[in-house]
Amino acid sequence: QGDPRLKAISEAIRVVPHFPKPGIMFQDITTLLLDHKAFKDTVDIFVDRYRDMGISVVAGIEARGFMFGPSIALAIGAKFVPLRKPRKLPGEVISEAYVLEYGTDCLEMHVGAVQPRERALVIDDLVATGGTLSAAIRLLERAGAQVVECACVVGLREVKGQHGLNGKPLYILVEPR
Ligand code: AMP
Repeated sequence: QGDPRLKAISEAIRVVPHFPKPGIMFQDITTLLLDHKAFKDTVDIFVDRYRDMGISVVAGIEARGFMFGPSIALAIGAKFVPLRKPRKLPGEVISEAYVLEYGTDCLEMHVGAVQPRERALVIDDLVATGGTLSAAIRLLERAGAQVVECACVVGLREVKGQHGLNGKPLYILVEPR
């Protein structure tokens, strides 16, 4: 893409090799949050894309989806729904397990947070295998919502339109460095 803002966004993300374990190139978006212009541009790009798509739910994945989702939700006039790791939400929840490199993890959503037929956007900082986003999609669809798209700041182009996301479109701003 030719958007000049994307280069600055990419450069504002710090890459930390071998974190949290050997071999992982960790894409640290906390340095993007420190850069007011790059942070605002990131949110603005998402807001411009989603403002007229009839989206009433922005679902953010713990923890870094919480750093972008609420700003987008407020700007497009949607509610924000946190999708959390197990045993964090106090009310009645539905859960979806997903596979990690070693073992499994789980995302939970409050029952009643989303109404049937609501149009939802899922947001996280980064997509790697797509396993986390897929669990989020399953949660929302079990609640009767329609997932319009998944959006991440960082992602591999190859993941785009891949099987893993149940055919749901994926929108990413930059590739990992
Ligand atoms: P996946 O389910 O494989 O798509 O992994 C995506 C989730 O893991 C997201 O919540 C990311 O925050 C996190 N993640 C995976 N790989 C990285 C990485 N290289 N740098 C930062 N976060 C990562």
